[in-house]
Amino acid sequence: MAVLPAPLQDLVDAFARLPGIGPKTASRLAFFLLRAPDEISSSLAEALLGLKRDTITCPQCFNITVAGRTLCEICDNPQRDAASLCVVEEPMDVLVLEATGGFNGRYHVLHGVLSPIEGIGPDDLKIRPLLERVRGGAIREVLLATNPSMEGDATALYLKQQMASMNVRITRLARGLPVGSDLEYADQSTLLRALAGRQEMN
Ligand SMILES: [Zn+2]
Repeated sequence: MAVLPAPLQDLVDAFARLPGIGPKTASRLAFFLLRAPDEISSSLAEALLGLKRDTITCPQCFNITVAGRTLCEICDNPQRDAASLCVVEEPMDVLVLEATGGFNGRYHVLHGVLSPIEGIGPDDLKIRPLLERVRGGAIREVLLATNPSMEGDATALYLKQQMASMNVRITRLARGLPVGSDLEYADQSTLLRALAGRQEMN
C-alpha cells in the first residue's frame, strides 16, 4: 500500500481531526491545497495562527471577541438592553441568535452544558459568574436559551433553581424547536418565533 509523504499525511491527519470531516474529505482537502496557488495555503495558515493569537473571551459574557478589547462588542454597546440577559451554551449560539435580529439584550455563554455522564458539573461551566451577574441587580429577565436537548433542559432547570431567590423573571425559548437539536441548526424563522414566544419557565 502506498504511503503518503509525511507532510501530506500530517495535513490529512490534522483535517481528519476536525468535526464533520472524514478521511476521504481530509485527503481531498490536502491534495487540493497541494495543487492550489500558494496564496490559498498561506492565507489559510495565517488565519489558523491568528485564530488563537488574536481572540480572547469577553470577561463579562465569555463570548469570543478580538484580542485587545476590554469587553466584547455586545457588552460594550450602550444600545443593548442591559436588563435582558440571554444564556447560551456556545459562542456559535450567539451568532445564530444575533442573525435573527430578534434579541436586543446581552448574552452569557456557559461554554457547555451540565452532563453527569461526561463528568461536567457547574464548576466546569461559566455558571458562577452568571449568578454573580444576575445578583448584581441590573438584570430583570434571564432567557435560558440552552439547546432543547436533555442536557440543555437539565442545565436550564438547574440555573432556574439557582436563581429562584433572585428577583428576576426567568424565561425559556418557546417550544417548536426540534427536540434534541442544536440551536445552530434551527432555521432563522423558527428561532425568531421561539425567541418571540419565550415563556415563563415553571
Ligand atoms: Zn461580552
